[in-house]
Amino acid sequence: MLRVMQDTAKRHLYQGKSIGFVPTMGALHEGHLSLVKRARSECDIVVVSIFVNPLQFGQGEDFERYPRDSEGDREKLLRARADILFAPDAAAQYPESFSTHVTVSALSERLCGAFRPGHFSGVTTVVCKLFHIVRPVSAYFGQKDYQQTVIIKRMVEDLNMGVEVVVVPTVREPDGLALSSRNAYLSPAERKAAPVLYRTLLAASQEVKAQAAPPVEIKARMHAALLQESLISEVQYAGVYDPATLEEATEFGKRTLLALAVKMGSTRLIDNLLVDR
Ligand code: AMP
Repeated sequence: MLRVMQDTAKRHLYQGKSIGFVPTMGALHEGHLSLVKRARSECDIVVVSIFVNPLQFGQGEDFERYPRDSEGDREKLLRARADILFAPDAAAQYPESFSTHVTVSALSERLCGAFRPGHFSGVTTVVCKLFHIVRPVSAYFGQKDYQQTVIIKRMVEDLNMGVEVVVVPTVREPDGLALSSRNAYLSPAERKAAPVLYRTLLAASQEVKAQAAPPVEIKARMHAALLQESLISEVQYAGVYDPATLEEATEFGKRTLLALAVKMGSTRLIDNLLVDR
């Protein structure tokens, strides 16, 4: 499978075809499909990978119960006119002898990294492997996982991978909740309450635009708004950040990142907005 993908990619490259690549963990929704659509509009060959990467799940996280829907995914990708579905198995990706990891330091420890040690190293290791197998000219990632896009761009630049990283806007439900495979875990009451994440970001973005208060105050209001929702059991982080370094902002730059991560019961939800002045 792995070898077939590698040979197919080489053949397309040899024929001068551009390969666009969309890495995913499956249980595909319209967010994933917006990346496929963008790749379809820009590249000759569209490759989508589905791989629930054990390396990026920590102890006690949801690797085993992560939603899987291979039949549904296949149909959606056919309809979206993807050319190749690459679904390697974990044993082939990580044989016993596997010893190499790619870690982007500093950026990987901030925001989600502080709560998910080792997570981004798992992401960069698998994305690096997938890039070598698929050989894309462009790879498509969602802004939903903003920190991931910053880290992957850093890896691509640092390791001279020569892949264009394209960031695609977050697709949301009509009530503002960002689409996520993990939304399937939410109880009906949690699902009803979940748009508070986006509402909190929107309210904060108005304050950033108006520079109505310093970043620390906006951060405090975001925490207060989230904690007013009784179904939120933990606010892991919420605040105003520098979009390049992911560090907490002490003053406003040209572009501001608003980001948050909360737990609703056992479900971890993240969201973010970029605000331009
Ligand atoms: P995942 O399967 O969760 O690893 O996501 C695969 C890719 O889809 C990542 O680049 C995500 O950022 C992107 N993605 C996930 N949810 C959304 C969304 N709601 N809108 C846009 N892209 C998304």
